[in-house]
Amino acid sequence: MSAGKFGTAINCIDGRTQLPVIEWLMENFHLDFVDMITHPGPDKLLSQGRPSELEAMKAKVLISIKAHGSNVVAVTGHYDCAGNPVAKDEHLSQIKRATEFIHSFTLPIKVVGLWINENWKIEIVE
Ligand SMILES: [Zn+2]
Repeated sequence: MSAGKFGTAINCIDGRTQLPVIEWLMENFHLDFVDMITHPGPDKLLSQGRPSELEAMKAKVLISIKAHGSNVVAVTGHYDCAGNPVAKDEHLSQIKRATEFIHSFTLPIKVVGLWINENWKIEIVE
């Protein structure tokens, strides 16, 4: 087991979202490190992706959980997302579905769904 406490985030590639997500997770779950899995518009992928895409994402998350002992996984969506340019309401429903996908792993981990708003602040969705 690696030294330090790890969490995991499935986040957008968007550079504006990285530090807010890392800092929020470190503070709220008392983490030392956040493993970051990025994809343009991750909330869209996790809620509407093809089975093969979802399996690939699951494999990435499992590396973080198994190698680093992460016990919290965050899924995110954000304002002004180039990879998923839909209305906020649609993002929020996608984020909820994304948390259900992570819950489907049936692992003893916490799952949080986060919205990164127009001020690049974190709001808890689920
Ligand atoms: Zn984005």
